[in-house]
Amino acid sequence: MPTDPMGAFTMESPLIQGAYMAAALLFILGISRLARVRSARQGNRIAALAMFLAVVATTIALWGDAERETLWATLAGGVVLGALIGIVLAKRVAMTAMPELVALFNGLGGAASMLVAWAELERARAEWASAPRGADGLVVSEGAFGLGTVNLATLQGPLFAVAAVLSILIGAVTLSGSLVAYGKLAGKIRGSRLGPLGIRPLNAVLLAVALAAAWTVGFGMAGNPEAVEWAVYALVALTLLLGVGLVVPIGGADMPVVISLLNSYSGLAACATGFVLQNNLLIVAGSLVGASGLILTRIMCRAMNRSLANVLFAGIDAGADAGDQEYTGVKSTSAAELAMVLDAAQSVIFVPGYGLAVAQAQHKVQELATMLEARGCEVRYAIHPVAGRMPGHMNVLLAEANVPYERLFELDEINGDFKNTDVTIVVGANDVCNPAAYEEGSAIAGMPVLDVWDSRTVVVVKRSLSPGYAGIKNALFERDNALMLFEDAKAAIEETAGELGEL
Ligand code: NDP
Repeated sequence: MPTDPMGAFTMESPLIQGAYMAAALLFILGISRLARVRSARQGNRIAALAMFLAVVATTIALWGDAERETLWATLAGGVVLGALIGIVLAKRVAMTAMPELVALFNGLGGAASMLVAWAELERARAEWASAPRGADGLVVSEGAFGLGTVNLATLQGPLFAVAAVLSILIGAVTLSGSLVAYGKLAGKIRGSRLGPLGIRPLNAVLLAVALAAAWTVGFGMAGNPEAVEWAVYALVALTLLLGVGLVVPIGGADMPVVISLLNSYSGLAACATGFVLQNNLLIVAGSLVGASGLILTRIMCRAMNRSLANVLFAGIDAGADAGDQEYTGVKSTSAAELAMVLDAAQSVIFVPGYGLAVAQAQHKVQELATMLEARGCEVRYAIHPVAGRMPGHMNVLLAEANVPYERLFELDEINGDFKNTDVTIVVGANDVCNPAAYEEGSAIAGMPVLDVWDSRTVVVVKRSLSPGYAGIKNALFERDNALMLFEDAKAAIEETAGELGEL
């Protein structure tokens, strides 16, 4: 019996591996619950429980590992500090700033993978540097493949070398790319260049040199650990620059796809780090994040009718016709007039957009919908896959206001129904119902949009004629059957409900 009972649990012990297996299964269960709005909260809790189990098991395993006992305080400090920062951020973040937060989380995930792999690489290099040297000054030690002049791959095995450089490469690209995505979403970075970064041929050069540095770290410089140190610095610096160069030329309207792709990268980096540390749970969890991020990226590309290559390499088009935003024949309306139109309506569709989130109008919209339903009117909500500023943004807001999930319809399900609808109320949405998507050469050409103009009357609630995220004119506002209600969404819907109550 060991005197320290914790000492019995090493990383390889069945109890720790069993806990890892349980955590992996819980992660899978959690993700599957996230697929439905109803069970999403539960899915989140299950995944959090899995992460808790993983942290506890890892902590116990490290405690038992005499060599790493000193890491215990660092680990506890990290967990407490990380949890505190997480709690404060989660409590304070506004719903509209959620995508920025997700971008930062992705970046931190990439940073963690990069730093862990870098540290492991340094540990291996130090071991290598202290090995006996031959007469020529080169290190000749007994690597995985026997005696001889060794490099990292022969010393630690090729899997270690490949995984370590990949995790630095993907982790660093994720870190700097996510910071740029954060800056773009928060409106702090505009334009398609940061200095020379963003010029596409330069990205190709950066990638080629980074790959050369990666090769040098893992497989080159046999017997010369000192030279490898500089190759590691070069690899980190080049890949950080590459992340900036890859994301900065991408336009604002394509940011949702980029965020979900970076999410996938952060998973791939974690998976590679799992191979470096030989940690099964990290490999499984990283693969899950990597795969789900890729699936989401594919779904979003389809929603915008774009290929991933087009999103990543076509550059910014947004604002291309920003100077050409003169509107003619726009008709404005009032809350009182809208209430009268609604009084006669048998069917109403609400189209929520980013402005609904800004105004926090979801509760007022739900109240108005309840009033309409009490009058025998059929009320539905049309949800565009990229309405708002993150995937599922509108679903979350409407669920918060207790809008029954059965009333929400996806684009494909409801687009053919606008022509049978009396009134469509567009609440703070713009790009997602812009007929320019049907015009060749437009910045959003080919993006599926909600055909709101097909309904008998369409009322657009927004404060002005300003463009949406894509920065382009919306000819919907000039249509004969369109009425503009220029007001803050929450105030406008509240007033309309008040007026309707009087009728
Ligand atoms: P848009 O950005 O196209 O339009 C939002 C509109 O809301 C604006 O035109 C604005 O007009 C109006 N608005 C802002 N504040 C208020 C307010 N307080 N009250 C009333 N209206 C307000 O939003 P959509 O949802 O239609 O489209 C989403 C766009 O964002 C797409 O281009 C999409 O690609 C992009 N995007 C989507 C992401 C996602 O994952 N869903 C992530 C990042 C970008 P005004 O100023 O006149 O009031």
